[in-house]
Amino acid sequence: MDEDYPVTLLSRMLEIYSPSGHEKEMSEFLAGEMKRLGYDVEVDEVGNVLGRVGSGLPKVLLCGHMDTVEGFIEVKRRGKVIFGRGAVDAKSSLAAFICGAKRYVELGGKGTISVLAVVDEEGKSEGMKHYLSRTSETFDFAVFGEPSGAYSVTIGYKGRIVFSVECTTAPGHASAPQLFENSIYVAIRLIDKLRSMEAEWERVGEIFDMPTMCVTLINGGSQDNTIPGRCEFSVDVRVPPSRDVYDLKGRIAGVIEDFKVGEKRATIRYDFKDENMPFVESEDSVMVRAFRDSIMAVKGRECKLIKKTGTSDVNEFVKKFRIPTVVYGPGNSRLDHTPNENISIEEYGDSIEVIARALMNLSQG
Ligand SMILES: [Zn+2]
Repeated sequence: MDEDYPVTLLSRMLEIYSPSGHEKEMSEFLAGEMKRLGYDVEVDEVGNVLGRVGSGLPKVLLCGHMDTVEGFIEVKRRGKVIFGRGAVDAKSSLAAFICGAKRYVELGGKGTISVLAVVDEEGKSEGMKHYLSRTSETFDFAVFGEPSGAYSVTIGYKGRIVFSVECTTAPGHASAPQLFENSIYVAIRLIDKLRSMEAEWERVGEIFDMPTMCVTLINGGSQDNTIPGRCEFSVDVRVPPSRDVYDLKGRIAGVIEDFKVGEKRATIRYDFKDENMPFVESEDSVMVRAFRDSIMAVKGRECKLIKKTGTSDVNEFVKKFRIPTVVYGPGNSRLDHTPNENISIEEYGDSIEVIARALMNLSQG
């Protein structure tokens, strides 16, 4: 791999616009590049690309996503910075995995490094879900590519519960509101109940350690002269690692069930649509040590450990694999999804070294 290759690879990845659902060109491009670098490459039905280099143990998975949010950003290099959609979230992480694993093998590193590039991470995680449903592979360690900054490692993500509620009542004429229950008012009362549950959670203090709740969608009524017979809303709950997702689901269901008892004139149905497990890696795990030591060796800097309130594909992954896992990648995550996504070439280059050395640290136990 020649010296200019990492920047060339990243620039070309940024030029290929690949919002969720439109990753085909990117998938073909990466499969071709990885083959040229000597990876053993497979592409699955949904377009995920899996490339392996090296052999034997340890078996390490480096997983990144090919898709971005919508909105092409013209690819340009300004001084020591490259602009482009995905420069931060998360094409530079994925490019750094491809180059870092290759560098590691060139340095004589042992083990099998699998670079998995998935589709639809910004969508419904269909790429990761598809991979997890088919694979029978096992790994000793995993790294997920999301921007932590090249000199930091992400060791926590919250989990997530999504549910929707439908309140139905008998519709009536808007001139006689005293005669009919109003499904929008029922929904508002229930939202208030749910929010008082949230107020209890807030006593914990730190935002990462408490569950949060957000009503994200609401839809009710059909005409401006009719008392609405139907109101539906959706709620997004974020769950810290200290709380059990199933326990929390049970509590939410309990609040709704209690509420139902007092609402004689309404029918209330609810549906849990999706859930993700929280992810947390112990601060002194072998993975965290491997990256800490590597960042110190590459940059002479103390590695910062980060916990994020969002979720990513790692939350899906840890449902199935219970192995030391961290999330790592260059870039400032505050630029995620913004029209200013850009990456420092120096930081990107450092991240490749950090990955190669972290792999070395892992293989040497
Ligand atoms: Zn991402």
